Amino acid sequence: MDANNIESIVKQVLAEMRGSAPAQSSAVSASGAAIPATAKVAMLTQKEHFDIQEYPIPPVGDDDILVKVEGCGVCGTDAHEFKRDPFGLIPVVLGHEGTGEIVKMGKNVKADSAGKPLKLGDKVVTCMIFKDNPDITMFDLNKQNVGGADVYGLLPDDDVHLNGWFSDYLLIRGGSTVFNVSDLDLDSRILIEPCAVLIHAVERAKTTDILRFNSRVVVQGCGPIGLICIAILKTMGIQNIVAVDGEAKRLEFAKEMGASATVNFKDFQGIEALADGVKQAFGGYLADFAFQCTGSPVAHANIYKFIRNGGGLCELGFFINGGDATINPHFDMCSKEITIVGSWVYTLRDYATTFDFLKSAKDIGLPMSKLITHRFPLEQINEALQTNLAMSGLKIAIVNE
Ligand SMILES: [Zn+2]
Repeated sequence: MDANNIESIVKQVLAEMRGSAPAQSSAVSASGAAIPATAKVAMLTQKEHFDIQEYPIPPVGDDDILVKVEGCGVCGTDAHEFKRDPFGLIPVVLGHEGTGEIVKMGKNVKADSAGKPLKLGDKVVTCMIFKDNPDITMFDLNKQNVGGADVYGLLPDDDVHLNGWFSDYLLIRGGSTVFNVSDLDLDSRILIEPCAVLIHAVERAKTTDILRFNSRVVVQGCGPIGLICIAILKTMGIQNIVAVDGEAKRLEFAKEMGASATVNFKDFQGIEALADGVKQAFGGYLADFAFQCTGSPVAHANIYKFIRNGGGLCELGFFINGGDATINPHFDMCSKEITIVGSWVYTLRDYATTFDFLKSAKDIGLPMSKLITHRFPLEQINEALQTNLAMSGLKIAIVNE
């Protein structure tokens, strides 16, 4: 019996196993595990409380994909909804930074949103769910960002229930963007969504024409967003990166991510002294370009003092409303001729670019996995969200066994 024969017999046996399996409970996934009849979801049923609930796995339609969830990052947006329900979504299954394995798919599903083939066993992420908006498309750089679009993990509960990545199964319905990311490891896949925010910010920064290989770049704020920003600048070949934060531990990590020097603002009294500290860190020069990665209005006001005449600024720290900042338009903007860009979420194209960034980061040895400081099983999701709110770690993730 030759190899071809064996292969065809195995295929036949597998096909028969699937065909004769009772529809209820023992379909077989690509990895050989049975698909259960029910799935667990973490349902936010009231502020600061998730219940683990179990629902039948619904039929998979011709355009749908059933994914076995491997993990999902906890986002600031999740923490915001968990704490205050500002979006009025309760009851809701949260979690949009998730990834998992295709265990079942409809007969019309052939390729992902970038045209890459899809098969059982592939690892995927989702981005947004298309509403008929022609201004949000994939491969036109000038199209608008996906802010305000529907995403899994921020959908109101419905009869399907499997609407968010804080679960063990997710039903991706036809008309959603889905990407085959089988060539990325689990940690990288969990980090895709926050990294896309930074890919977009750097693309926005590049439109100023100020950011170059030899630019001196200051990154203010070394939470996950600032640290990922530094990593992206490093993969672009930028060498002169000064990180500013108030925590020594985060500044150490900033160095591992590629910062050439760090400034702890707690070591300086007043903004003049701090600006001088940044200048010294660049060897006597102010920054050509600045990324503002904190949600603090004072930090926004301060950052102009770090930038040289004719320099640029990308403000991306205010993902949500953090209040008003006071600047002096004459000294901070006009007389210095600063070019400013704002950045919020990402375009679909940035999302796909992020996959390449994560591969580059790995290639040059940046410790991206260390961004995930806490991992919780789904059953401990309440603790995971409280850990996020306590701001004691960097990225918190739910990881299923
Ligand atoms: Zn997010």
